[in-house]
Amino acid sequence: MMQWSTIYGQDKAKQGLLNYHQSEHLPHAILILGKEGSGGLALALAFARYLLCEQKHADGTICGICAACLKTKNLVHPDLHLTFPSVPMKPGEKAMSKNNLADFRKFVQEHPYGSVFDWLQFVGATSNQKGNISAEECRQMIETLGLKASEGAYKIQIIWRPEYLGKEGNILLKLIEEPPDNTVFLLVAESTDAVLDTILSRTQQIRLQPLSIEAVQSILTINYKVSDREAAQVAQIAEGNVSHALTALHQNESDLLETLKQWFNGVFTYNGLLIGKWVEQMDKTSKVQQKNFLMFAQQLLSQAMRIQFIPNYQAPLPQDELQFVQRLSTRNFSAETVRRMDEEMSKAIYHLERNANAKIVLLHLSVALQYILKGTELKAL
Ligand SMILES: [Zn+2]
Repeated sequence: MMQWSTIYGQDKAKQGLLNYHQSEHLPHAILILGKEGSGGLALALAFARYLLCEQKHADGTICGICAACLKTKNLVHPDLHLTFPSVPMKPGEKAMSKNNLADFRKFVQEHPYGSVFDWLQFVGATSNQKGNISAEECRQMIETLGLKASEGAYKIQIIWRPEYLGKEGNILLKLIEEPPDNTVFLLVAESTDAVLDTILSRTQQIRLQPLSIEAVQSILTINYKVSDREAAQVAQIAEGNVSHALTALHQNESDLLETLKQWFNGVFTYNGLLIGKWVEQMDKTSKVQQKNFLMFAQQLLSQAMRIQFIPNYQAPLPQDELQFVQRLSTRNFSAETVRRMDEEMSKAIYHLERNANAKIVLLHLSVALQYILKGTELKAL
């Protein structure tokens, strides 16, 4: 279960929350704001566990063995309330968090960095069930939090994605402004655009950083038990989103590095036969795989540039990838050459996303890269 020490890459946000607690002016309502897959919910749960622990340490760690810790570990602490976008589980049933709670606990344990999309998939929602936090849910929150704190020093209400409240959020205004004693709201949002201003103005905001490649890698290997090698490959293409990294992992149909070696060999030696074989192979894979592959190629090229230009640069890569980019860096491409290669790959991704014929796109890309390496421009696709 989520705890402070397994939240990577969010040191500033963690410190901000700890400072609130240590100042003894813990706000009634804190909005944790961060892009999808950057760990907002994981952080909120870790902080809730911290607040409820009976023997916590000043550095943010919990004791892990007190009665509260044992209950928060499985998200069954009676003072930890969870509200999230929900869907009716049976025909005629209302969409209420309490009806989805058992599934939600399981989801969070298995996928603490999951998105609402992942969550709705997890409960088998149909494509027209978008998830909702209803007016009835809000009234339930008022009722539940109105009861006396039953066990711990705090009552904690987590609202995952207040964007889903819509205007129903107005029902909660008074509660958020003047909550019962020792009640803390932890709201976890991805964007403030869809959250009511009246709610925003009643919260203190903690902003999450975009996750670095290294942080994504650590989260994948430690929280999700992904192998070092696979984690390093998908972290390159995840754009700081753990949820994307996991999707890429599941969609990965072949070893990206081997495919890249084969392609670059063909391109750098102007070997049409090798390139043709590579194009045939790639054409058999999915559009997602093709796109992921090109993003991977862009990342490794950019790592090679860094090795070339930044003294003592440590590339965040496993052994095989590292050897490959080190060899690549000895080719001494100019920054302009790499910029143009990168641009061509982005163009190819753009065309693939718009369902252009993969064979044509990838062949054109290969030839364009050869022209760039020769120092001649090729006309646009
Ligand atoms: Zn404890």
